[in-house]
Parts: sequence; C-alpha cells; structure tokens
Amino acid sequence: MKKIALNIDGKDAQAAEGDTILNAARENGIYIPTLCYHPRTKQAGKCRICVVEVKGLPDLQVSCSLQARDGMTVNTTSERIIETRKMIVELYLSSGRHNCISCEASGECELQDAAYHLGLEKSNFPVIPKDLPVDSSSPMIIKDMNKCIQCFRCVEGCNNVVVNEVLEMGFRGGDMTVVCDTNKPMGKSSCVICGECVQLCPTAALLEKKAAGKGRTWELKKVRTTCPYCGVGCQMHLHVKDNEIIKVTGVEDAAPNFGTLCIKGRFGYDFVHSPERLRSPLIKRDGEFVEASWEEALDFTAEKLLEIKKTHGTEAIVGIGCARTTNENNYIMMKFMRAAVGTNNVDHCART
Ligand code: SF4
Ligand code: SF4
Ligand code: SF4
Repeated sequence: MKKIALNIDGKDAQAAEGDTILNAARENGIYIPTLCYHPRTKQAGKCRICVVEVKGLPDLQVSCSLQARDGMTVNTTSERIIETRKMIVELYLSSGRHNCISCEASGECELQDAAYHLGLEKSNFPVIPKDLPVDSSSPMIIKDMNKCIQCFRCVEGCNNVVVNEVLEMGFRGGDMTVVCDTNKPMGKSSCVICGECVQLCPTAALLEKKAAGKGRTWELKKVRTTCPYCGVGCQMHLHVKDNEIIKVTGVEDAAPNFGTLCIKGRFGYDFVHSPERLRSPLIKRDGEFVEASWEEALDFTAEKLLEIKKTHGTEAIVGIGCARTTNENNYIMMKFMRAAVGTNNVDHCART
C-alpha cells in the first residue's frame, strides 16, 4: 500500500494513502478521542469530538472523516481544539442522565473516558433532565435512552455490520432517540438478540441484562477463548468474576468474527455453571441413567458395539461427530468407526 508523509503535532508521521487523519494519528501513537467512530462502523462524523486543525484550512476539521494527504500539517492539541472538545462533552453530559457513580458502564464508558481525558468533572451547561422509560422488554438487553449520545454506532452496526435492520433513529431534535422497528419495545421487535449494538455502544444506553449488578468492570477478569457452539470458531472474551462468567464480548481485532457474535455465543453461557451438566458418564440400567466410571462406560460401549455387530452387522452402527469438539477429535471418531468398528456410516451434527 502506498504511504504518504505528514506532520502531526510537530512529529513526522506516515500513513497509508486513503486513510483518515484519525487513523493516521492512531497509527503513529497519537490519541484523539472519539465517541461515534468505531473501526467496524467506519466514518461517522456525528459527535465531532475528534476535531483537529489542518494548516491552510480555517475551520476545525473532523478527523474521522477527513482523508490524510501527503504533506499535511495537523495539530491535535491546540487550546481551540481542547475547548471545543470540552464543550461537546459538556453538552453530552448535560443532555442525558449521566450518573456515573452507579452506572453499569462506569470504567468502560467512552463518554466517561473522554471527560476524564479532558479533565471535566461536570458540565457547565444547565442539565436538561431526561426521564425516558427504560426498555427492559428484551430478554437479554436493557435499552436506556437516557444514556444515549446519538452516536449512531448501534444503528450502523445493526443495519450494516450484522444487517438485521432493526434499529434506526426516531423522532427529531432533542427528542431524537434509537428506536426498534419504528418504535416497538425491543422485546417485541424483529431483534434477533445478536448483541452487536450492545458491544458497539460507547455508553450504558445498551447493556447486557444478565450482567447488570453482577460486578464493576474493573473487578472482571477478561479471558480470551473460542466460542464452543459451532465450527466457525468465533473469538470471544469471557468477563469473569469469582470464577463465574458475567458476560461475553467478541474480540474486535481477531478473525473470523471481528467482534460480532450470534445470540448463542454472546448470551448462551449459562450452561457452563449449570448444576445439570454431565460430570461423569451415565449408563442406562433398568430404565434409569446411573453414573459410571470411564472404565465401566468404555467397557459397556465396546461390549454393546460387538453385540450389535455380531447380531445385525456393522451397517447397523452409525457414528455422529460433534460440532463443538475439535477437528482432531472428529477425525479420531471417524477413523475409529471405519477402521475399528468397520462401518462407513459416519456423519456430523452440523449437517443435520
Ligand atoms: S453512560 Fe457513561 S457517562 Fe453516562 S453515567 Fe454511565 S458511565 Fe457515566
Ligand atoms: S441485538 Fe442485534 S438485531 Fe437486535 S437491535 Fe441489536 S444489533 Fe440489531
Ligand atoms: S444507543 Fe449507544 S450506540 Fe446507539 S446511538 Fe445511543 S449511545 Fe450510540
């Protein structure tokens, strides 16, 4: 890819041709705060907190939307820029219900981060109180528009990343808010509960319901793993407290899913802690499943396979592989059925 050279905050920097000033700065280790921009929803230009000065242009420029050019001179930290950013964040803080003390997002909220970065403790604008009803109708998501900053990330994500086309911005002016299917409760809408919008939301406007009240963000340990549900192998982070999974998020910068998860991967983790999980093999005796040791179970299976083979032939035996196990385990199962049992009746649950 062709490179261009520019100067950012007095330092020589390089960027890929076609990149925005924001990305050029980030690539060169220079922090510019953003609220609406997200790498997966691309150019946004909504919050305007990422403004910078470009030599030769009189007005402040939105760095997430303006392409970097060869020879450009960019300033990201002038007094005018900082004052503008402060004013934007103060306006956000004054136009919602932002009580960080007890907010679920505190510690991972990008609005809070921006206020911290700018040294803001409160808004100097009069607070316009918002008291919109919290939508808890979805079984997995809490939608609290009192904490929405109209960044459009969820709308972009729902429509253009996962293409479920549920969310849009409804109403106008100060009443503008995110709506589902032209303003249905989320639980009654066509939402498929993939949670993409929750992951993209920079504040607590969209939250995992099951995680609410279970722990502050800084108490949670992040564990990287692979989704156990299907063969795609989505990369995820488990957020764990006291050995319990509190929530799951997709890993943003890793293939194959780049942050996106389906309903099972994101919300279907309760089985991990279920008391009904099998912890030892079960053998059915007199109509009842009875716990057995692995030796007993393997002997029993071998005995039954031999019995069926003798009575009905190998064609009466079928081996079904599992989508939740590894390729190597499935290979061994296939090899065992063909070579040891002597049947080619081998299939896989993902095909059924
Ligand atoms: S959404 Fe962010 S800024 Fe608003 S109360 Fe929660 S932590 Fe604070
Ligand atoms: S959970 Fe998925 S389908 Fe539902 S609104 Fe959010 S992004 Fe759209
Ligand atoms: S709900 Fe969250 S992601 Fe959607 S517009 Fe509001 S703040 Fe942005």
